[in-house]
Amino acid sequence: MNELLYLGITEILENLRAKEFSAEELTCAYLERIQETERRVHAYLSVLGDEAISVARAADRKIRAGDHDSPLLGIPVAVKDLLCMNGVKTTCASRILENFEAPYDATVVTRLKDAGAVILGKLNMDEFAMGSSCEQSAFGTTHNPWNLKTIPGGSSGGSAAAVAARSCVVSLGSDTGGSIRQPAACCGVVGMKPTYGRISRYGLIAFASSLDQIGPFAKNVRDAAILLGTVSGHDPRDSTSADEPVPDYTESLEAGVRGLKIGIPTEYFIEGMNPEVEAAVREAVSVFEEQGAEILEISLPHTEYALPVYYILAPAEASSNLARYDGVRYGVRKDGESAYGSLFGMYSASRENGFGDEVKRRIMLGTYALSSGYYDAFYTKAQKVRTLICRDFKAAFDMVDIVLSATAPTPAFEIGERLDDPISMYLSDILTIPCNLAGLPGISQPCGFTSGGLPIGLQLVGKPFAEKTILQTAAAFEMATTHHKVLPPL
Ligand code: GLN
Repeated sequence: MNELLYLGITEILENLRAKEFSAEELTCAYLERIQETERRVHAYLSVLGDEAISVARAADRKIRAGDHDSPLLGIPVAVKDLLCMNGVKTTCASRILENFEAPYDATVVTRLKDAGAVILGKLNMDEFAMGSSCEQSAFGTTHNPWNLKTIPGGSSGGSAAAVAARSCVVSLGSDTGGSIRQPAACCGVVGMKPTYGRISRYGLIAFASSLDQIGPFAKNVRDAAILLGTVSGHDPRDSTSADEPVPDYTESLEAGVRGLKIGIPTEYFIEGMNPEVEAAVREAVSVFEEQGAEILEISLPHTEYALPVYYILAPAEASSNLARYDGVRYGVRKDGESAYGSLFGMYSASRENGFGDEVKRRIMLGTYALSSGYYDAFYTKAQKVRTLICRDFKAAFDMVDIVLSATAPTPAFEIGERLDDPISMYLSDILTIPCNLAGLPGISQPCGFTSGGLPIGLQLVGKPFAEKTILQTAAAFEMATTHHKVLPPL
């Protein structure tokens, strides 16, 4: 592997400034890496080769002119294919948006461009971000670089696999119920879901708007902190984006965890948890203890309701968000006599043809939960229980600074293994979903490997807008361990 591909953001920026190599050379190294790995990994849905090289050349001109203040100047990045990018196909891994070219940039894409980042391409995902394995993509499954027979996690499977395969430096994904943290755990990289409202969702194709949040993937905590800082902040175009100052997330990365209170929720060590995952997480707890953190047992008593609540609210919101795909304005319209018998016939044939099975399942579940006669029994009830889950965390955070658990109960599973069993697929997110329901920030970072060589993820959840504390805690763990340095055998 080209040695440029090992470098993190800070080292790259230093080298670019010192003219050790150019942004164009770096971009070419990544484009070659993409060519080399894509046949096996399939993390990308589109690669923007020529555009990337011209952006890299522009970065080189800036550097030559002595203007190198942009935080991601010349850094090759990639984004999940549900983030709109002007003039570029944005498919959401769905047939229904197969030919959709976004007419504008998502705010995060604008911020990447303004920061000088070189966008290499758009990354694979489960269709409309519904899934935990990337197998629901209409354009083929992404393979886990650690073992090509296993899933990379989902829905941001391409974003995680690309960072693990070193086919981009950092990437962006989105997390509605675990879609950043679970694939990060499966692929042995760092993935962070920030506080709801931390990053603008303008130009993110919506799945469940009260839960969706964009976030970074990186090979180490520092890179994640840099990317987070670059794309965070208030945006008048997203009314749910928070008007909170964006701190320098890299500032306290070396501050350690002495005196920090870390809570271990008893409810998160669930039945059926893989014993190697549990052992790695318990080991991580002792690393924090050695570093001077105070470990406390805590309880989040409504945890068992998180999954059922999520699978009412997320599909309910999805059924409403996805109503716009009717074959008229966006994407695929079904041709043929039978389809055009009536307007309704055209709608239903387009949707029948354009959506995959999981998306249809969610639309039906959500429509049912919102329908008259069932609304109170399902939707309203779920909202009430969501409040109880939020209160659990509020009470816990009166006592601790961080809540620690595994990210997922099992490591990456084999492709095809859970495809016919939606419930077992849904269980992949049992430890990540509560944090979305409560709007809290959470990170997943590598904390070990199974005997079969698959990565294990550690989840750290913090108070609202306490991303800095989470990153500081994760950085302390990273400094004390070497898991993040092991590369997949690709
Ligand atoms: N796997 C979960 C789902 O299928 C979460 C997806 C996500 O976070 N986008 O809904």
